Amino acid sequence: MKALDELTFDNRFARLGDTFSTHVLPDPIDAPRLVVASEAAMRLLDLDPAVAEDPVFAKLFGGHTLWADAEPRAMVYSGHQFGSYNPRLGDGRGLLLGEVYNSAGEHWDLHLKGAGMTPYSRMGDGRAVLRSSIREFLASEALHSLDIPSSRALCVIGSDTPVWREQQERAAMVLRLAPSHVRFGHFEYFYYTKQPEAQKQLGEYVLAQHFAQCLEQPEPWLAMFREIVERNAELIAKWQAYGFCHGVMNTDNMSILGITFDFGPFAFLDDFDAHFICNHSDQEGRYSFSNQVPIGQWNLSALAQALTPFITVEALRETLGLYLPLYQAHYLDLMRRRLGLTRAEGGDQALIEDLLQRMQGSAVDYTLFFRRLGDQPAELAVARLRDDFIDLKGFDEWAERYVARVNREGPPDDNARRERMHAVNPLYILRNYLAQKAIDAAQAGDYSEVRQLHRVLTRPFTEQPGMEAYAERPPEWGKHLEISCSS
Ligand code: AMP
Ligand code: MG
Repeated sequence: MKALDELTFDNRFARLGDTFSTHVLPDPIDAPRLVVASEAAMRLLDLDPAVAEDPVFAKLFGGHTLWADAEPRAMVYSGHQFGSYNPRLGDGRGLLLGEVYNSAGEHWDLHLKGAGMTPYSRMGDGRAVLRSSIREFLASEALHSLDIPSSRALCVIGSDTPVWREQQERAAMVLRLAPSHVRFGHFEYFYYTKQPEAQKQLGEYVLAQHFAQCLEQPEPWLAMFREIVERNAELIAKWQAYGFCHGVMNTDNMSILGITFDFGPFAFLDDFDAHFICNHSDQEGRYSFSNQVPIGQWNLSALAQALTPFITVEALRETLGLYLPLYQAHYLDLMRRRLGLTRAEGGDQALIEDLLQRMQGSAVDYTLFFRRLGDQPAELAVARLRDDFIDLKGFDEWAERYVARVNREGPPDDNARRERMHAVNPLYILRNYLAQKAIDAAQAGDYSEVRQLHRVLTRPFTEQPGMEAYAERPPEWGKHLEISCSS
């Protein structure tokens, strides 16, 4: 375990030089204080969790002091936002402070979000508000605990610094960790600004640091693209299986590592709704829940376009063609497990699709349905879940097929079934209304609720005595919260 001043830096991205990022110092926020920290994320840096309480911790991650070996940089990138190309984005309010090298031999980017203005701030103030910082923190750590790849969050630091959004709020900073902050938009930037040499340098850097296994392939760039396709197909399958809506799947928010990245007005589904749009400025529903699947492919095509100087169009096209079948296979596998099925049968896809169709328009809590389905033997469980469905006949027909399907797996072992299903079906999920309650308290100066919610969500599959309130269905007001897109 290390103290705060014992971190080892190795700033590989900064060493790429000024073509790729700009040196900018963090602009501190007033009266920095710890809102919440993640012990698990601290362990990734070998940090002793106790140091979060040290006032130096809030000063470091509130932008007041820096390690001598940190090299804060704002990265340049571009990207497609809601389908249109924006030629210049970049870190407008976040800084890559440096890369910490841990005892397991891993590098972790330390990215401080809300660190002030940079050359890429455009019209923005370079700040992040407490509300959105808490949401990013909770989501990163909750997704990780659900085994959904995500950037991580070390801490949120609150402050007295006023910022204006729809109303006056307080600035905060969130310290994000990821093995890399390179986005699809990095490749797009150097492609569209016609800098093939820089793009080559970026690609070779990414290959060496993050896709070293591809260097042994006859065509390393193609192998890397293939892996990016595979990872994204798997990631989006997990989002769909667990009801996660990202909300802003612009190519500048897509990680080349296939991790969930850059959180905005995201939401987990409460009642199942395939057409759910969590981002209320997304009037056309480009990033609706079910559209996440084709948009994943659209984004990969945008990346493919940017890679045309290095990979033949034919090979890119063929590789893109892997996305949907891979997605389908992962999704099917996850959903089978959520239904407690241990082997594959031909009709499984239809069984899953028919279930979701029956959920649509009913008021079925997506998370609790699967959890309850595993509580009891199949026949008893479906009888108990039936009342939530509007089309009772439709559900009964499905339930009969499901029970028959379960029985074909062999003689039932109720305990094994419950254990197997509970291990993949969370009881606790980051519901918007739970996040909102924690934010309301934090804005009033009480951080206990954020901390408690974070703690509960680190063990989403394990029933935690006394935490029943976190496992309940949302109250009616909590189902229709409009999450502000400003952040
Ligand atoms: P996002 O929607 O958070 O992914 O941000 C899109 C782009 O806008 C990125 O280049 C951000 O750095 C930039 N941006 C967002 N909010 C701000 C802000 N308050 N100040 C400066 N830049 C911002
Ligand atoms: Mg972004």
